[in-house]
Amino acid sequence: MPTTQPLTICLVDTQGHRTQTEVERQEWNKKDASSKALRFFVGMIIVALLMIPIPIVHFGIPIILLFSPLVAFIVYKVYSGGTDIKGEAKCPACNEALPIRSSCDHWPIHGVCPNCKASYSIEQC
Ligand SMILES: [Zn+2]
Repeated sequence: MPTTQPLTICLVDTQGHRTQTEVERQEWNKKDASSKALRFFVGMIIVALLMIPIPIVHFGIPIILLFSPLVAFIVYKVYSGGTDIKGEAKCPACNEALPIRSSCDHWPIHGVCPNCKASYSIEQC
């Protein structure tokens, strides 16, 4: 499991309104990323095994077996060293609940409120 730490963020809209909240920050190290890649690989093998008795669908088994190492490698590369934030904040424009779920490789993070369509940016406080 990735390590989780609390992180305080500020949401700022285009008119300067500001809200502050605390979210979870997850850091994926190489061991966590390889564990997740292994779970993807094993999951794809299980799906291939479950497809054996199904007519016509079982022709997809070689494709799954060929691409499962590639998918596992891609999962490892995507998650290795990655950092995610997730939580809930309040929109600085309309004050409605706003789900926050993003990778935080580049700050500030930009988004649009689904309720009032106001754009906002997320910064570290
Ligand atoms: Zn809003």
